[in-house]
Amino acid sequence: MKRTIYIPFDHLHREYGALKGADPKSDLIVLVESARMTTGRNWHKERLFFLISSARHFAQSLRDEGFTVEYVKAATTIDGLKQIAKQHKGLPITCVEPSSFRQYEALKNHGVEFVPNDFFLTPRPLFKAWADDQKSYLMENFYRKQRVRLNILMDGKEPAGDSWNFDKDNRLPPPKKYEGPAYLEHKRDEIDLEVAKELSHTPTTTWATTRDGALAQLKNFMDNHFADFGPLEDAMTTDNWALHHSLLSPYLNNGLLHASEVVAAAGKAYSKGKVPIESAEGFIRQLIGWREYVNGMYWFLGPDYRENNQLQADRKLLPLFTDPGATKMNCMKATVTDINERAWVHHIPRLMLLSNLALITGTNPQEFLDWMREVFIDASEWVMVPNVIGMGVHADGGQMMTKPYSAGGAYISRMSNYCKSCVYNPKLRTGETACPFTTLYWDFLDRHKETFAKNHRMSQQVFGLKRLSDLPELKDRAQEVLAGLEAGII
Ligand SMILES: Cc1cc2nc3c(=O)[nH]c(=O)nc-3n(C[C@H](O)[C@H](O)[C@H](O)COP(=O)(O)OP(=O)(O)OC[C@H]3O[C@@H](n4cnc5c(N)ncnc54)[C@H](O)[C@@H]3O)c2cc1C
Ligand code: SF4
Repeated sequence: MKRTIYIPFDHLHREYGALKGADPKSDLIVLVESARMTTGRNWHKERLFFLISSARHFAQSLRDEGFTVEYVKAATTIDGLKQIAKQHKGLPITCVEPSSFRQYEALKNHGVEFVPNDFFLTPRPLFKAWADDQKSYLMENFYRKQRVRLNILMDGKEPAGDSWNFDKDNRLPPPKKYEGPAYLEHKRDEIDLEVAKELSHTPTTTWATTRDGALAQLKNFMDNHFADFGPLEDAMTTDNWALHHSLLSPYLNNGLLHASEVVAAAGKAYSKGKVPIESAEGFIRQLIGWREYVNGMYWFLGPDYRENNQLQADRKLLPLFTDPGATKMNCMKATVTDINERAWVHHIPRLMLLSNLALITGTNPQEFLDWMREVFIDASEWVMVPNVIGMGVHADGGQMMTKPYSAGGAYISRMSNYCKSCVYNPKLRTGETACPFTTLYWDFLDRHKETFAKNHRMSQQVFGLKRLSDLPELKDRAQEVLAGLEAGII
């Protein structure tokens, strides 16, 4: 053997990263299941199951190909690598550039040689060149450049369908009693069962743990959901937990799928006329726009960015985040129950329910970030940090997003069916049955009015405060709501 190739659990693709061109005759493959990763935090068991079982399946597929594979359990990744170095006489170690600052430092200090990270469509230096050139880092500007650079959904120099953006067509509320096609279920095999037993966990059938399963999920999305993806992408309903979202983020993030494969499949479906432009554009925007932008911003903004707390939010994490029984708010109860069940909800509950509540209650951003990291199936440091600190709770003072995503109950009522059976009323901002979102939205604006008045995108909302004749009463109610949320009785 000439070298060790170290494969982190988020780079499980045979054709990319350090495995590209790897040779079973000269390359020893190492995967490390570190205790820091498994027991270091209060991880959702479905998430651990998915990550570990995917890695073990991947290790097996490499063995089947003729590779010598060492899959070790150790206290930390570095301990695992040291263990292997003793057994294999200190072979040089190669790995793809890691996806978090912490792992980058640890592996670099251990002398690991990196190959460029090609798990994204945008090399890190290219993103930096774009960002260095911007006054404000608008995703929309980045996205348009990506469309041209990658030549996706373009008619020559013009955007397909004569518009860069079909967001206005993609904001439909949920239809009544919406069923949609059946969900794809993934059967469990021996490796899955072994991992499930070790974790004392009964896994769902929602998440695949193999490349074949991930490809089946991609095909299922293309065949059954892609055409309807766009118009309902922001809707939330108790009738259907996924609507037409692709459920591909876990595989994109652990490497079982590469973004270029998903983009190619989407482009093909559109060019064959199988999907309307608003769905094609909406989905491509998420992939070549948001996903690439968020990864680029993570590296661009640096390791200290995650510690931002510009709104000085210091409330402890509310009990309802860990216990859906600790709230009467129908939307929050349903969302946290869904997360407990399968470690996933789509982008609107993440943004407009979970993050919005953390934002307007003044919850400490790092406590909220830690919780989000622990409970989502697709949570990685590079994607959670900008999404939570920048987009979700505006803790960076607007470095990433020009205004906070704060909203009252009216938005949630419009985009979901949660409010119909809730004890609270989204239209009320004071009184015992006032919707906590509505009360706290105004209270939040009032608490930060000096800061937001300087922001031209917020000034109209701040101005709205002046029209509230019941502001003193509302402020009293807000204190009751905050105390009730902390006590788990609101
Ligand atoms: C506060 C907050 C936290 C989030 N945390 C994560 C996270 O930890 N991991 C994660 O992968 N996504 C995260 N997202 C983005 C998005 O919610 C998920 O990617 C999406 O819900 C995954 O489901 P899906 O695969 O069905 O996505 P679809 O709706 O089908 O979208 C397709 C793909 O686009 C990509 N994408 C869309 N939006 C984003 C985004 N804002 N950032 C990065 N990729 C995006 C994902 O890869 C996703 O699979 C977060 C968004 C918010 C607002
Ligand atoms: S009324 Fe308020 S708390 Fe109840 S479901 Fe609607 S938004 Fe949520």
